[in-house]
Amino acid sequence: MQTRFSAERLREPGLTGIDSILRRCVHCGFCTATCPTYQLLGDELDGPRGRIYLIKNMLEDDTEPSSASVRHVDRCLSCLACMSTCPAGVNYMHLVDYARAWIERRHRRPLPQRMLRGLLRLVLTRPALLHVLLACARPLAPILRRLPGPMQQLAAVAAVPRRSRGGRAGIAAPAIRGRVAFHAGCVQQVLGADVNAATVRVLERIGYEVLVLPGNCCGAVEHHLGAAAAARARVIANVDAWTRVAAARPFTALISNASGCGTMLKDYGYLLRGGEAAEQMARCTRDVMEFLAGVELDGRAPEPLRVAYQPACSLQHGQRVTLAPVRLLERLGYELVPVTESHLCCGAAGTYNLLQPALAAGLGRRKAGHIAAAGAMAVAVGNLGCMLQMDRYVSLPVLHPVQLVDWALGGPRPARLDECRSAP
Ligand code: SF4
Ligand code: SF4
Repeated sequence: MQTRFSAERLREPGLTGIDSILRRCVHCGFCTATCPTYQLLGDELDGPRGRIYLIKNMLEDDTEPSSASVRHVDRCLSCLACMSTCPAGVNYMHLVDYARAWIERRHRRPLPQRMLRGLLRLVLTRPALLHVLLACARPLAPILRRLPGPMQQLAAVAAVPRRSRGGRAGIAAPAIRGRVAFHAGCVQQVLGADVNAATVRVLERIGYEVLVLPGNCCGAVEHHLGAAAAARARVIANVDAWTRVAAARPFTALISNASGCGTMLKDYGYLLRGGEAAEQMARCTRDVMEFLAGVELDGRAPEPLRVAYQPACSLQHGQRVTLAPVRLLERLGYELVPVTESHLCCGAAGTYNLLQPALAAGLGRRKAGHIAAAGAMAVAVGNLGCMLQMDRYVSLPVLHPVQLVDWALGGPRPARLDECRSAP
């Protein structure tokens, strides 16, 4: 794709890199076929190729973005399916992230949108505040459910059963394999405490010492809302704090169990270009299932369980971790069944289901239909946002795959399986 930035414009921070991303696109349109919003809306401008044109024009014009451009970029899930499909290696993730930050700097959104986005940044990155807010919202869930838009989503999150941590099940083997760091997340700490506990149990059980890193949010919430400066400040603070931890107690891997966060952590090197410490954190980041797939494990599924594995977009398209979780679960004796359209997003996409509730619901229902047809007894998905979305639309127990690994290795039976029923 040809671009027409002046030499002076190309001196703007980051724009040279964006220019080379744009120039890679050959307009072939292969990406359009795997774009969930194009599938739903059938509009070229709601597919990746159309958005790339819009972003190019928006950046070249260097004026306030039009409402139409903002609308089409806002509808993008950042699911990155287009990156998996693109034969030319267009880095759409960096492009759309740049566009979101550009829009936030130059476009004044209507007041309700500004308030909602501000509230999300305030609450989601502070686990204690989120905890209090959900405790207050829980009794109000039946009323919130009748209100329009994001309130219905809040009611759905508030109604999610609190996931208990489960016991430690007593066995932490001597730390003979080494030491790893664990990023516990922000929303994850509040709504996925059981997944975090299972992750630590598994790692300790197989012989790792686990350091829980300081800090909560990886910066993804602000980053995807276009708040580039706040996200960057958070990334710098995390890298500084974690580098001090590594200096005192070196670790060989930084483990994440929320693939949305893992994708962000693996991009720290790009986000802090030129920062060796950030590059180092990015290099040693592993999704927990990716990490465990490379370790010899001695365990067996305690009961026969047919599992529909839905790869989170951030894991399959963002991190390119595709078959490792499936093979690991099969190795442990679980029966895995395929999900039709597993390459397509479930509609969760971070804060997307709060900001674009109608599109998110369409994708959630479509995913639920495919999962119901798979004939499984439970669903496994490696990202908290997707788990919450499926809790809402799927009638089967929704688990993180590491909970199944934990169970096979002697950890507690995942509490959600008590909701398990026979497949149709
Ligand atoms: S990130 Fe997902 S929703 Fe956005 S353009 Fe690419 S495929 Fe479509
Ligand atoms: S598949 Fe890649 S090269 Fe083709 S239109 Fe999409 S982004 Fe451009």
